[in-house]
Order: sequence, then structure tokens, then C-alpha cells
Amino acid sequence: MERVANLSGAPQPTENPYLIAQQQVDIVAEKLKLDAGIREILRKPKRELAVNFPVRMDDGSVRCYTGYRVQHNLSRGPAKGGIRYHPDVTIDEVRALSMWMTWKCAVVNIPYGGAKGGVICDPKKMTLPELERLTRRYTTEISIIIGPERDIPAPDVNTNARTMAWIMDTYSMHKGYSVPAVVTGKPIAIGGSEGRAEATGRGCMYTVLEALKHLKMEPTRTATAVQGFGNVGATTALLLHEQGSRIIGLSDSRGGIYNPKGLDPHKALRYKQETGALADFPDSDPISNAELLALPCDILVPAALENQITVRNADKVRAKIVAEGANGPTTPEADEILYQKGIFLIPDVLANAGGVTVSYFEWVQDLQNLFWDVDEINRRLERIMVRSFQEVLNNSQCVEVNMRTAAYCLAVRRVAEATTTRGLYP
Ligand code: NAD
Repeated sequence: MERVANLSGAPQPTENPYLIAQQQVDIVAEKLKLDAGIREILRKPKRELAVNFPVRMDDGSVRCYTGYRVQHNLSRGPAKGGIRYHPDVTIDEVRALSMWMTWKCAVVNIPYGGAKGGVICDPKKMTLPELERLTRRYTTEISIIIGPERDIPAPDVNTNARTMAWIMDTYSMHKGYSVPAVVTGKPIAIGGSEGRAEATGRGCMYTVLEALKHLKMEPTRTATAVQGFGNVGATTALLLHEQGSRIIGLSDSRGGIYNPKGLDPHKALRYKQETGALADFPDSDPISNAELLALPCDILVPAALENQITVRNADKVRAKIVAEGANGPTTPEADEILYQKGIFLIPDVLANAGGVTVSYFEWVQDLQNLFWDVDEINRRLERIMVRSFQEVLNNSQCVEVNMRTAAYCLAVRRVAEATTTRGLYP
């Protein structure tokens, strides 16, 4: 379950992500003294589509699946958000995820509203042809609300570039011509963007560099620990290493590795590719994931799962900066503990927004049929991440709130302003 942490230390009596997302809006709306009507608009998704659809399995039988596509807010532009395939997908989870996408797009000020999609299925138990048929039929069912000007899906849990290629092809077949801008996260061969694969980790690195500047710390005199060595974690580790930070701890789902003198993340990546895990990496000591989070370091990047820094271990965190590469790695109670300890937190809606930012670049390139090289992508990404970091930081200093609350206030204010500026129809 993806969770974004508490904004004011107020109790969060529920595990239901949709209720949590609504509480977050309530808290920020109160701080911003938003009009009651706007609060009502922002605390519910604008549009929810539920679809039940049949898929023929390889053995000839037919199975019925349930899927959703939820659009939270379209005031700032078309909806944007991933599609998740998982047995635990619920409408409330999809609603919450769509709201969090609205805030993430608003924090980095890209012209999108938030959306999310999901299909209740277990992709690990399905064959590739079954997944293709499921994707093509789900796309057809939701094609009444998606499109390059309306709602642009992207990969999420258990979906990837291949899934996006099937969605793009299905949508295009219905139209009778190619519509690459209907999804992002596509393979480069059909209109994907350079730099998309490493965008989230790269964006995270830019925000860490800004935080170091703010705290008057030299990157070359820092030690970093990264939890999760997948797309986001490995890229962030490689790029921080390039900036001169000593990578002292890394971990994946099978455990972690530690060397206070520094690990070479390039070698660690090759080792993981060859052996399937980081465990037993030469010149390192094994550590547990719990130990990794408590390492004496300057920069801690949780880049694996949600709910990793909790009320049970938050007081053990010794980093000066926590950069949330993952979505919702810190629970609301832990958030408060980190804040009280004076740890500088870069919240997920900012730290991992590089992914959706380069998705935006992909869409823009597809619409104009003009493609940028990777240097251009990275330059533009850096500009947006640095600007957004500074805006959140200024906000947090002006109103004396933590970085997460500051990011949410910025986002909700932008969306509220767009909604009121457009006015009420009819
Ligand atoms: P991934 O599957 O590529 O990598 C996840 C990594 O976490 C793997 O190395 C896995 O072994 C490790 N892991 C799993 N369980 C672990 C555990 N208990 N302890 C330590 N490590 C564990 O996924 P990803 O795309 O890198 O996503 C990671 C997080 O970042 C997720 O929260 C995701 O929602 C978020 N995120 C990803 C993107 C993106 O563009 N990929 C964008 C925004 C947010």
C-alpha cells in the first residue's frame, strides 16, 4: 500500500489509502484556509471508471477481470498516472494514487492532473500472451476516457515498456493511425524518450545535491546508504557516487552490503546482474535492511517499498538527509520523529518526481514529433527539479513547516488556484 505521510502530526486512524489521502487534503486545506467548496472538489476524484471484461486464457477458458481508471483532477491539464497490475488493487487504492499523482505533478509544476489505473490480476501467474490480451482488452474498455489530450497512462507496479507498447498499439488500431502520445514509458523505437529509464534516480540525485547545498555540505565529504537496488535505487547510487559521495551501504530484497570505506556501485550492479543479488559482494560485510536504515551516514535514500521508516525504527535513523526515492517509505508517525530529530527530509512527491517529469517530456516530444537528445532531457530535468526543490524549501522556510507539508501546500494551492480560476461550470 502506497502511503504518503502525515502532514501535521495529526493521528491517522486508518490504513485505507483513500481516507488517508482525503485527510491530507483536509489538513492542507485548513492550513491554506481554502474555501469549503474547493475542499469538497479536491477531496474526491472527478471521474471513476470501473470495467469488468473477459479475457481468453491459453487453455481456451474465459476469465473475467475487474479494472479501474480514476481521474482525480483535470484543472491543470490532462490526467497522468500509471497502470498497476496486482491482486490487491482496490478502487480506494487507485483513488488515493490518482490524488497523489495530482499533487506530484503540481509540485514540479508540469501541466497535468492526476490519474491512476489498476487491474485486479496476478501477472506472475499469467503467460505473456494472456497478459497481452488482458492489456489490449483493458485498453479498449478504458479508451473512452484516455487519450493524448485527456489522460495519458504510464507504467506502474507489474507493468512496463512492453505493456505501454501494447496500449499504444491497441489505441492506435482503434483510431486507424499511430498515437504515440497516448502513453509514456514506451520503448524508444515507438516514441519513447531518451533518459526516461534513469529519470527518477537522476531527479532524486538533483534534489539531494540541492539539499546538500542548503545544508552547506560538500558532496565529496558525504556518505550515502541506499535501500533498494532497482531502477530508482541503483541509478541514485550510481549518480551520487559520480558526484563524489561515498556509497557505504546498499541493499535489495535479499539483504544488504556494507563497507565504511566505500562500495563501487558500478561493480555492485554488475555483480547483482550476474548473481541476481547483492549478497556476498566482495569486500563488503553483510547487513540487514534494518541495519542499513540505521547506518551512520549523511544521505539515506529509501528506494524500495512503502512503510520502511516507521515508529519502530525512526529514532535509529542517523542520516542528515532522507531522500524518498520510493513512494511512501516513511509512515506518518515516523515522519514526525525524523522532523523532531532535525533530519532534512525530501518528500516523495518531490524526490521521485523526475520520472513523471521525463514522462511529460516524452509526451511533449511525441506531440511535436521532434525528439531531444539525452543531454537536452537531463538539462531540462535538472532545471525543473532544482526549481521545484527551491520552491518547496522557500515555502517551508516562509511558513515554518517541514518539507513534506510545504510540498503539499504548494501543490494543493496550485491545483486550487487553477480550479477557481477556471470557475464553476455551468
Ligand atoms: P524496482 O522493482 O526496479 O526496484 C525495487 C528494489 O527494491 C529491488 O532492488 C528490490 O530487490 C528491492 N527491495 C524489495 N523489497 C525490499 C526490501 N524489503 N528491502 C530492501 N530492498 C527491497 O522498483 P523501482 O522502479 O526502483 O521502484 C522503487 C520505488 O520507487 C517504488 O516505491 C516506486 O513506487 C517508486 N517510484 C519509482 C519510479 C520509477 O520511475 N521507477 C517513479 C516514482 C516512484
